[in-house]
Order: sequence, then C-alpha cells, then structure tokens
Amino acid sequence: MDTPRKKYIVANWKMNFTTGEASLYLDKLSKRIQPSRKVQVVLAPSTISLQPLSLQINRRQFKLSAQNFYWREYGAYTGEVALSQIRGFVDYAIVGHSERRYVFNESEEDIAQKVAAAIRSNITPILCIGETALDRKEGETAAAIYSQLTSGLHQVSKEDISKVIIAYEPVWAISSNKNAKPAKPIDIIEAERIIRKHIAKLYGKEAAEEISVLYGGSVNKDTAPAYLQLEGIDGLLIGNASLIADQFCAIVEIAKGV
Ligand code: PEP
Repeated sequence: MDTPRKKYIVANWKMNFTTGEASLYLDKLSKRIQPSRKVQVVLAPSTISLQPLSLQINRRQFKLSAQNFYWREYGAYTGEVALSQIRGFVDYAIVGHSERRYVFNESEEDIAQKVAAAIRSNITPILCIGETALDRKEGETAAAIYSQLTSGLHQVSKEDISKVIIAYEPVWAISSNKNAKPAKPIDIIEAERIIRKHIAKLYGKEAAEEISVLYGGSVNKDTAPAYLQLEGIDGLLIGNASLIADQFCAIVEIAKGV
C-alpha cells in the first residue's frame, strides 16, 4: 500500500459521565493529548454531552462521535435524536454496536438505514460488526461477518464506501459481556482479512485496501501495542479503558508511535 492509512483511536464512553463530568474529563484529556496528523482521536460521549463538548473541544485535537441516533430526519419518534439535530456537533457516528444490536434489538435494516443516513449527512459511520461466542463456537465467524457487512452496507454505493469505517468487535471480547476475554491478534487478523475480502467482493480491490478497519474489545494500554502493530488494523475502539485518563492517553501515545 502506498500511503499508510491514518490511525483512529475512538473512545466509546457509553452511558457514563454527567455533562459536567464529561466536560472535566475532556479538559483533562486535552491537557495530555497533543494534536497529531497520524492519529485521529474521536470521543463518543452520551448524546446529552455532544452540544456542550462541541463548544469546548479543539477540533484539531479531537473529533466527536455520536453513540447512536435515529435515521429519519424528524417526526413522531419519541425519545430519539435525529442526525439533523446533532449534525453540527459530530463528525462520526457509531452504528450497529453490539449493545444496540443485542440489548436494544436493533435490526439489520435499521443499521443499514443508519449507515446510509450518516453518509447523507456527511458524518462518517463507524459500522461495528462481529460474531457472538456461539457463532465462533459453531465455526460461523466468517458467515456472521459476511452477513453483517452485506446487510449493513447494502445501501452504500461504490462512490461512498470510502466514507465508512468498519470496527471489528467480536461480541465475546467486549468487556460488558460475562466472561469477556480480549481477542488474540491472530483472531483479529483473520477477521480483518475476511472483512477486506468481502469488501473487495462487494466494492472492488481498491475499496478493500482503502477502507479503515478498527478493532474493539477489552483493549487496554498493555494490550494496545500488539493490536496497533497488526498490519491492516487502523486503530482501536475502546470502551472501559477510555474512561480512565491514564489508560486512554497511554493508548493514544502508543498509536502515535506505531
Ligand atoms: C465497546 O463497547 O465498543 C468496547 C470495545 O468496549 P470495551 O473496550 O470495554 O470492551
């Protein structure tokens, strides 16, 4: 590959921090993380914190991501937030996270609609895919990845595929799951190859080489170096460890050094 793809370090704060706490935490991070052209640091706070943090943030240092949104423009959807309401605050949006899929029963069709809506709004969707422990046990890892990619991307054209980031997050590796254990580098490389092979089939070889593929699942500062050195892995999506400044800042520094 001629030009190395940029690294992404994405912090998924999930349903943690009040708006005040999020602001103090951002302040702490901003004193410790210097802007870098090599590493894009993306913070995904709760929806309620997006607007105040968007005013506080230095966009050369950090970008913001939504954790969730509804794909319709506006209307009678009680409790939902539209992209038109957060468009000015975020550059990225996490879509299809396993907690949305399995706790909130989000459907494949909703996920596909969200990916397409984000692209229409000039927001980069970070499409999370990954097999469950049962899929893996039954030898269905590749099938699960194919199926989630095919359905999640089915509204994305060849022109737009470069606007999507894929996050490989095996469900069994995410810390919120009972008995979670981090994936081994070999598991991640196998999945990354399956992902790029399927993207090549759907969109061509060039798209497969260009698309950014991240890994997420129980990453911390001790495991991050091995993951970040994997060829074909363009960064990390981090849950728990992103809530601890020492952990998160160390991971960003590691990414800068790779
Ligand atoms: C996540 O939920 O996307 C995630 C990667 O969480 P954790 O790092 O806590 O496993």
